[in-house]
Amino acid sequence: MARNILLIYTGGTIGMMQDPVSQQLRPFDFDHLFERIPELNKFRCRIDTYAFENPIDSSNVTPGNWKEIADIITRNYLKYDGFVILHGTDTMAYTASALSFMLRGLQKPVILTGSQLPIGVVRTDGKENLITAIEIAGDYRGDVPVVKEVAIYFEYHLMRGNRTLKYNAAHFNAFSSPNYPNLATAGIYIHYDYHALLRPGRRKFKAVTDICENVAILYVFPGMTEDYLNAIIGIEGLKGMVILTFGSGNAPEAKWFSEGIAKACEKGILMVNITQCDKGFVEQGRYQTSEVFNTYGVVNGLDMTVEA
Ligand code: ASP
Repeated sequence: MARNILLIYTGGTIGMMQDPVSQQLRPFDFDHLFERIPELNKFRCRIDTYAFENPIDSSNVTPGNWKEIADIITRNYLKYDGFVILHGTDTMAYTASALSFMLRGLQKPVILTGSQLPIGVVRTDGKENLITAIEIAGDYRGDVPVVKEVAIYFEYHLMRGNRTLKYNAAHFNAFSSPNYPNLATAGIYIHYDYHALLRPGRRKFKAVTDICENVAILYVFPGMTEDYLNAIIGIEGLKGMVILTFGSGNAPEAKWFSEGIAKACEKGILMVNITQCDKGFVEQGRYQTSEVFNTYGVVNGLDMTVEA
């Protein structure tokens, strides 16, 4: 059965072309997508497109854009079998993470992809990324989609959205999922890791877009000062703080540091401890240098990415 796919274009390098005069990269008119990538006409599925009115470089993404994407998916949820989101690579892992938490009870594929070189460039990685992302979004076994979650497809790998990070700004292989297996690898065939794919329960689909935006990231480093810590904790109305710690979740034992964490706790700021290392996880209490976090009820973020 031919599947219906909605391709949502938010911006990013993938949808840009080089202006022949100025040589600058600018978004191309998405209405001409099928002329630029004639391969799309060969798919058995039907592809409709929806472009942001003003496509953005993903460095400009805000939680408002996540809500916009979640709303587009909600409005079209019953009409389409799968969704592909074209997005700049810089903050793709943040958007994928946010959508994975917003789109509750998701039973259909939502695949984000982009590229390091624009579609119009001869060596572009965008065509393969886009074509395979569409293929995955339309991949069903009978009436059941293979992928029922938010994922990133990039350079032959499908990764869980909220486990992924951009780790390379220069290579086509820009994303990795350091603490969770890839969901699929594309070669001549697409090989899914069925054990790794999410098997959601039968919850009804509902997008929850009411998210708290007053959060901060505290990056711990040798030589950080009390003022730096207090400036972050002192943010008016701060609700949540992700603490990016050393190794398995450690931080300085200085008195002012533990006093700062105590103050944040008193103010009701929800704190999560995750590690600055890409691989591995937080073990609060393993070293004395992480005891402060147990003392003040900081949530052990285990191996979560900062984006998640
Ligand atoms: N700055 C671009 C963006 O994230 C980079 C890219 O698309 O790869 O929108």
